Amino acid sequence: MRFSVGPASVVLGLLLLAHPAAAAGKLKVVTSFTILEDMAKEIGGNHVEVSTLVGTDGDPHAFEPTPEDAKHLAGADLVIVSGRGLEGWMDRLITASGYKGPIVTASTGVPERSMVDEEGEDSGEPGKVIPDPHAWNSVSNGKIYAKNIIAALSKADPADAAQYQKTGEEYLQQLTDLDKWIRQEFAGIPKADRKVITSHDALGYFADAYGLEFLAPVGLSTESEATAQDVAKLIQQIKAERIKAVFVENSMNQSLVKQIADETGAKIGGTLYVESLSKADGPAPTYAKMIRHNVTLMVAAMRGQ
Ligand SMILES: [Zn+2]
Repeated sequence: MRFSVGPASVVLGLLLLAHPAAAAGKLKVVTSFTILEDMAKEIGGNHVEVSTLVGTDGDPHAFEPTPEDAKHLAGADLVIVSGRGLEGWMDRLITASGYKGPIVTASTGVPERSMVDEEGEDSGEPGKVIPDPHAWNSVSNGKIYAKNIIAALSKADPADAAQYQKTGEEYLQQLTDLDKWIRQEFAGIPKADRKVITSHDALGYFADAYGLEFLAPVGLSTESEATAQDVAKLIQQIKAERIKAVFVENSMNQSLVKQIADETGAKIGGTLYVESLSKADGPAPTYAKMIRHNVTLMVAAMRGQ
């Protein structure tokens, strides 16, 4: 006995035609860095296969793509970047890869903000005023990123658009709740105490959104190890500005950190994650957990806990 496969294969053919992106399996999405990777996974669920160029704990400003990266990019259905000058290395990589598909900029629609490129890392000119690329650090901007990603996935894979909308709405609700929680956390701290010293320049949008003041540590260069004089300057600054919370992330040794804490009464916080996620078993494995981790550390330090 023979099975007739004719009508069944016609039906299958029509389904594949109606579902171009899924014909070869999942929608292949390549993101520039881990925060976008997480958002695309949250929204795309099992309809997407997401990978990232800059990995966990990586620096999205500076990236040296390999020929493997170019090959990988060439096979993508959709590329998502953050934009506003963050990924200065991306255009060359796109050209090298021959990728011709859609490139979506997740920060499209976020309010403009400028920053000083202190070390010339992005502009090549130390001290130049440039667009601030770190827009994701305010959660209301994070929601704009998520909306752009929902739209991009829906356009690239229309057959699964309803699912992206549904999962996307749930994700947006999570971010709305997160934003509310952050405001409640900082509301409990007197305005004068909402000051943080940090060597990260990625928190401008965050500071604006939540009414905080971030000061760069004086006397500390990221290039060299701190001298006794550098530390003295920093201690002076902490006392003069009545800073409660200090986050430093360069080569300062633990005894110097302890000295600063002892002499100023400022609380030295832990590690802030501002432009990359941690590995899955670290403290900031998703965008939402990254923000929650940073706020928790800052609030504890501002409270002197
Ligand atoms: Zn940065």
